[in-house]
Amino acid sequence: MTIANRRDFLRLLGSASLVAWGIAPRRASAAAKAKVIVIGGGYGGAIAARYLKMGEPEMEVTLIERNKRYVSCPMSNEVVGGEASMDFLTFGYDKLERQGIKVIFDTVEAIDPQARTVRIKSGKTLNYDSCVLSPGVDFEWGDIEGYDEAAAQIMPHAWKAGPQTVLLAKQIQDMKDGGTFIICAPDDPFRCPPGPYERASLVAHYFKRHKPKSKIIILDNKTKFSKEGLFKQGWKQHYEGIITWHGGDAVKRVEPKTRKVFTEAQTYQGDVVNVIPNQLAGKIAHLAGVVDKSTGWCPVDFATFESRLQKNIYVIGDATESPMPKSGYSANSQAKICVSAILARLRNEPLTEPALTNTCYSLITPDHGISVAHIFELKNGKLSLVPGSGGVSPMDATPEFRRLESIYAHSWYKNITTEMFG
Ligand SMILES: Cc1cc2nc3c(=O)[nH]c(=O)nc-3n(C[C@H](O)[C@H](O)[C@H](O)COP(=O)(O)OP(=O)(O)OC[C@H]3O[C@@H](n4cnc5c(N)ncnc54)[C@H](O)[C@@H]3O)c2cc1C
Repeated sequence: MTIANRRDFLRLLGSASLVAWGIAPRRASAAAKAKVIVIGGGYGGAIAARYLKMGEPEMEVTLIERNKRYVSCPMSNEVVGGEASMDFLTFGYDKLERQGIKVIFDTVEAIDPQARTVRIKSGKTLNYDSCVLSPGVDFEWGDIEGYDEAAAQIMPHAWKAGPQTVLLAKQIQDMKDGGTFIICAPDDPFRCPPGPYERASLVAHYFKRHKPKSKIIILDNKTKFSKEGLFKQGWKQHYEGIITWHGGDAVKRVEPKTRKVFTEAQTYQGDVVNVIPNQLAGKIAHLAGVVDKSTGWCPVDFATFESRLQKNIYVIGDATESPMPKSGYSANSQAKICVSAILARLRNEPLTEPALTNTCYSLITPDHGISVAHIFELKNGKLSLVPGSGGVSPMDATPEFRRLESIYAHSWYKNITTEMFG
């Protein structure tokens, strides 16, 4: 992995400081009187709320989140593979409240961009000057015949962490030795491009120790996938004969009762079936009118992350239409650009030049980590990769190199969740 040049490296380093992001507090700023509502307290929204409050301690920052506890998708494959418990994934919002952020546990049902109001399920309407939307993804139910919310209770998606993660982990633990675990991978773009393949790896690791006669089949409409070479090399090294990937064969229909999966080419019988449906921006983004109906995602101005369709609404995280991978790291990086832009606008100051980063670690075994890194810059209104930057872990690396990457994966998780939840 390389970082293009000294200038990019310094920009990256600078991105860690409040001053470089234009987020540092000012005295007697007009921004202090503004009201900002953040919707969604996940990888994008929690960071946006915290940095807004750090930048303008007097500003009224309200975070609206439907769940009292946030359950992280990153590292949830470790729970599915029996390596970690749900506690490892679960966080509360107390530190945000102590920071002075008003946290409301409720569901946003409507946003009126003209009146600049948000209506929550309990009936209240709240005003905002700026609204940050980080609602994550929802599923395209109905894309696969037979797969709906009821079917997900038998064939879990486990692509929003929580009860679905517990359900899938339990099914895998209860499965007989010699059983078949089928993963139906979604089409691009989707949350966490390497996620289905990391899941296969960690379940294979569990099978190898507890149910060695069992097999994993990945059914995929795609013909290539994220970090493919590294995954395939890791599978050959650790899971020869356990994991089979069938690319270019779309899942058309499922039959939850019999746990059968029908692709264009064939019928598969599973014992545990994990269907990860195709995805689009979270429902509230559609209700707010910030979604491009032809893509299902939210177009934004990458200098600010303001919606291209509605003024004063900013969209960050998985819901955005962007060349960045839909990852927690991308959401974190976008939140900081967005906060910096909101503060600059309120303070009548120029925007800072955005540099956006993403690093995504995956585990093939608990001691075998691999990664991909990207650095994006804004050129003519478009986000593009900084030439020569980023990259993936090397092929044929030593076991020690892979072990260190697995440690970095856990450090990454500790750092990013501490930044979110304190
Ligand atoms: C198995 C798996 C593994 C992953 N591993 C990694 C990884 O290793 N590294 C990485 O960087 N990323 C990883 N990801 C991706 C990461 O989880 C997402 O990219 C990230 O969560 C996106 O952040 P977000 O803020 O857009 O959405 P989320 O984190 O999902 O947050 C959205 C929040 O909005 C709330 N919400 C939605 N609608 C409303 C509403 N109407 N009212 C109130 N609240 C609402 C939800 O309850 C939720 O808390 C993984 C994903 C999966 C599925």
